[in-house]
Amino acid sequence: MENIQMVDLHGQYLKIKSEVDAAIQEVINQTAFINGPQVKQFSTALEKYLGVKHVIPCANGTDALQIAMMALDLQPGDEVITTSYTYVATCEVIALLRLTPVFIEVNPNTFTMDPTAIEKAISSKTKAIVPVHLYGQCADMEEILAVAKKHNLYVIEDTAQAIGAQYTFSDGRKASAGCMGDIGTTSFFPSKNLGCYGDGGAIFTNDDALSEKLRMVANHGQKVRYFHDIVGVNSRLDTIQAAILNCKLPHLDEYSAARRAVADRYDQAFENHPNLKTPTRNPKSTHVFHQYTLTGCNFKREDLQEHLKSKGIPTMIYYPLPVHLQKGYSMSKFEQGSLAMTEVLCNNVFSLPIHTEMSKETQDYIIQHVLDFF
Ligand SMILES: *Cc1c(COP(=O)(O)O)cnc(C)c1O
Repeated sequence: MENIQMVDLHGQYLKIKSEVDAAIQEVINQTAFINGPQVKQFSTALEKYLGVKHVIPCANGTDALQIAMMALDLQPGDEVITTSYTYVATCEVIALLRLTPVFIEVNPNTFTMDPTAIEKAISSKTKAIVPVHLYGQCADMEEILAVAKKHNLYVIEDTAQAIGAQYTFSDGRKASAGCMGDIGTTSFFPSKNLGCYGDGGAIFTNDDALSEKLRMVANHGQKVRYFHDIVGVNSRLDTIQAAILNCKLPHLDEYSAARRAVADRYDQAFENHPNLKTPTRNPKSTHVFHQYTLTGCNFKREDLQEHLKSKGIPTMIYYPLPVHLQKGYSMSKFEQGSLAMTEVLCNNVFSLPIHTEMSKETQDYIIQHVLDFF
């Protein structure tokens, strides 16, 4: 069996190599490394793809979240409701801006924010809700947006894992992941579903005034060069990365379909297994399967990982320790046991290799060795 990886970036590159190589060479020939024409070209193409008015490119997905919170003028002490079951970046920027993270539970079937837990977490200091479209499908946005509207709260969607997912509201209206709240953020980290060959990120909004503010914050707080109306940051998408993304964006839907096909086969293989629970799909969202994550019961997770490793099959745990139990986040004052569901998930989930290049033979091999373990 060939070298199995969680994600096969090299195989994906080989399929579009000539196009990507030429695009990179073109940037070098033009030497417009900062804010070259490819950056604007990409943000315009992404606006069209997502059906959103403004895409503001930036340096990475963490910056995107920080710029979003700065543009909304969130102030130290303001409370932001989010999940502890996420990648740390979501909470990192909250802490960095001296905002207060207020963690709530996730739905253990879909792994996304439990909307019924929001209202109990709201206080007079609450300013925003940050749902994470974890593993590639949308959180329950209809319910989240309704609570946000009722309490006059901002919604920032962390879309780092779900670019290309589509949400359908009860009235039939469709929207792209990241384009339903006030602001959406994403990452083009290489292993993300739309990954570049280094760091990259973007911010989405349908609000014209907010888009101007976001651009200003990302660009040293200036609208006019050398006139800094607010304190900002320096966060740009490299031209070379934008050129690569221009080659990859037209393939995004086919990449999502390839991932979904792998997920479908895993689902069929593990559907009625007594020790494994397959990931539930939110009926209102398409799923782009950034990760394929199973929840185990009645066996030792490390033993299964060890068994698979001996067969050359990698597994990953996203995430082994929830943010509220991380040493660096003790200021959140959420103790062990305070988010029981989140903690149970962190102790029992594991993710199998899933990517755009996986052959049926490789997947059969993985499935067989997972089943053989039991
Ligand atoms: C990857 C990721 C980020 C951060 O993106 P970077 O580009 O690595 O800064 C934020 N949130 C989530 C949920 C992510 O998975």
